[in-house]
Amino acid sequence: MNGPTAQHVLVINAGSSSLKYQVVDATSGAALATGLIERIGEPNGLVSHAVGDAEHEREVAVPDHGAAMAAMSEAFAELGPDLAEANLVAVGHRVVQGGPDLTESVLITPEVETAIEDVSDLAPLHNPPNLAGIRAARETFADLPQVAVFDTAFHRTLPARAATYALDQEVATKHRIRRYGAHGTSHQYVARAAAHELGIAPEQANLIVLHLGNGASATAVANGRSVDTSMGLTPLEGLVMGTRTGDIDPAVVFHLARTAGMDIDEIDTIMNRRSGMLGLAGSNDMRDVVSAVEAGDERASLALEVYCYRLRKYIGAYTAVLGRVDAVVFTAGIGENSAPVRAGALAGLEGMGIRLDPAANEERGTVRISTPDSPVAVLVVPTNEEWEIARETVGVITA
Ligand code: AMP
Repeated sequence: MNGPTAQHVLVINAGSSSLKYQVVDATSGAALATGLIERIGEPNGLVSHAVGDAEHEREVAVPDHGAAMAAMSEAFAELGPDLAEANLVAVGHRVVQGGPDLTESVLITPEVETAIEDVSDLAPLHNPPNLAGIRAARETFADLPQVAVFDTAFHRTLPARAATYALDQEVATKHRIRRYGAHGTSHQYVARAAAHELGIAPEQANLIVLHLGNGASATAVANGRSVDTSMGLTPLEGLVMGTRTGDIDPAVVFHLARTAGMDIDEIDTIMNRRSGMLGLAGSNDMRDVVSAVEAGDERASLALEVYCYRLRKYIGAYTAVLGRVDAVVFTAGIGENSAPVRAGALAGLEGMGIRLDPAANEERGTVRISTPDSPVAVLVVPTNEEWEIARETVGVITA
């Protein structure tokens, strides 16, 4: 599949201090090369570039996203593959927030750039660096079409009853406050792959997809479409995450402002960067938390219980949303690798038709971890956001 005529897409995920890239065969999903540029803006940037089994690392100054793009081009020129011979058909960019109007993957024009900028207030940490990546790529790859793939797009099908906050509607409308969700590209990929695994058509699959990485979200998928998701206006809402609270009484914000005299930025930092597993257990890496639990650490035990309990509540809620559930699907760093989290999340759900097979739960890769007689299947499906972005990108340029 990965022959000379393969359509390759350069997939770019630009964050504030890092830029991930991958050259992906849009048909097979095979990655020709992957790379990560870290510490953008700091004096000693780090470029990691992998081709096949060969991994290369080097320190270079990367003052901004333009320099990151130059460092990436240099890595390709020196370490391969030769991009001129890779049949690169487009650059696909991950963009976190599309807002109310950018609900489909789209060819980037000056108007689209302005529209992405216009919704930056809804994702102030993400959209500006996404745009910096787009602008830098446009300079470097002037001959290639640039496509934006939005993390919110899969959730465009949320019905109003799921997307609407019970907030003064004058305020909500004026400030475009609603639930947009996130991780959509991953949920979309995993939902299709899970349907394939179940042997049913994607547009008939009813699924609860649990993307559990450093960020975490649950999505209820009805007939292949997102009908509810746990992240809201921003990625702060929903599940307990590596460093985010997930669901919390918004009055905690008023309380901290009034009684502790904290300002909004301080509270934002606490809730987004110092809470979740980090705040509860002292580490945002689930491997550390599980090891600490095994060593008898009570703080870590409570953290893991809170994490799994929140998951269980969402599984229950989304079962009610869907009525019929074909499968619960785990994905991303924790979902794919942590048997204790999967077992903890599903504990006691036999009455809802969810029966975990403990031996299968220890396996790796794409695997069914429910018992053969479980009315609801439980699957682990590794996510592949880059492939999904590549597919969406080719879809846009060939439409
Ligand atoms: P992601 O955001 O999908 O890259 O996931 C990153 C997170 O996955 C890390 O912060 C870890 O907490 C978690 N993780 C990765 N490997 C394992 C593992 N073997 N067991 C538990 N958690 C893991």
